[in-house]
Amino acid sequence: MLKFKSSFRNSCISEGKFFGWWAKSARLTSRLTQINKMGDSEPPLFTFGVIADVQYADIEDGFNFKHTRKRYYRNSLRLLRRANEKWKSEVIQPSFIIQLGDVIDGFNKKYNASERALETVVNELDRSEIGVHHVWGNHEFYNFSRDDLMMSALNSRTVDDTVTEDADESRLHTEESYAYHFSPAPHFRFVVLDAYDLSLIGRKEPSVRYYQALEIMKAHNNNDDLNNPPVPKGLEQRFVKFNGGFSQGQLDWLDRLLTRSDEKLEKVIVVSHLPVHPYSTDPICLAWNYDGVLSILHSHKCVVCFMAGHDHDGGYYRDSFGVHHLTFEGVIETPPESDAFGTVYVYEDRMTLKGNGRVSDRVLFYP
Ligand SMILES: [Zn+2]
Repeated sequence: MLKFKSSFRNSCISEGKFFGWWAKSARLTSRLTQINKMGDSEPPLFTFGVIADVQYADIEDGFNFKHTRKRYYRNSLRLLRRANEKWKSEVIQPSFIIQLGDVIDGFNKKYNASERALETVVNELDRSEIGVHHVWGNHEFYNFSRDDLMMSALNSRTVDDTVTEDADESRLHTEESYAYHFSPAPHFRFVVLDAYDLSLIGRKEPSVRYYQALEIMKAHNNNDDLNNPPVPKGLEQRFVKFNGGFSQGQLDWLDRLLTRSDEKLEKVIVVSHLPVHPYSTDPICLAWNYDGVLSILHSHKCVVCFMAGHDHDGGYYRDSFGVHHLTFEGVIETPPESDAFGTVYVYEDRMTLKGNGRVSDRVLFYP
């Protein structure tokens, strides 16, 4: 009897374990079935989450600059939570999240709520316990100085999940640009770029880069309000105050870094708040010296993908070098019933983006 009870208990335990395993296995099978629908039959090497332009503020809904798009300032936190819960529940946990910039809105500054808003979004992101790599956009600089950002939770360049062989060079030291790289898995590297390295909002007087930015703007835009584009259409529209560019120092650093990645036969994904390919975005959102970045990307075999935010409508283009340019749809202009985030599954020969809501699914084969 005792033996029976004991074995019954044991069988219950093992059955419980079995059911636990079965449930997990069924979830995994269902997940792999979903992945299979996108043509992927093997488990990925690693995965990561991507989200752009949350622009959270505890204020009523409003509109964009042109009054053509609604902005859901409070709801953006709900959508961030939904993205976070999805990532947390994934059978294959994302190794990290890339937050593509503008995580809180510039309106927070007006209401003296910058720090409170930042704390709110950072607390939300912390709940997933997945490391976040933060990119800085124009709204970061509307709320905080560069020095403040360097000291804030939005400085993720100290996250230590990198391959350490070249740790000394994992940061860009000159004039405190916010650019760094990390390697989440052998033969893969991510580069975070600082698109406001050369800008009127990311640099302050007196500094060399502020005056360089002023010269660029004076040469292209005569408007009193420099947030108004100099022309109604075409590439010149990009010379507005809410955009910026990359310093020569940062471009040289990127070039050297990509040379090393070429030698190591790595695949490199570059991320920035501003897009750099004219066909991947409305040109009013392009980085000032997008062409300088493109020519560097194209001179290295290792580059497979460039990810950006800033253009809330999103965009995608595969250029003639086979590099994928993905501009992610912004959370802030996403209606409450929809979503705007993605999970990227990384394989030996491709990445598969599983989009949610406004973000489309895509299979991105390497060049
Ligand atoms: Zn932006």
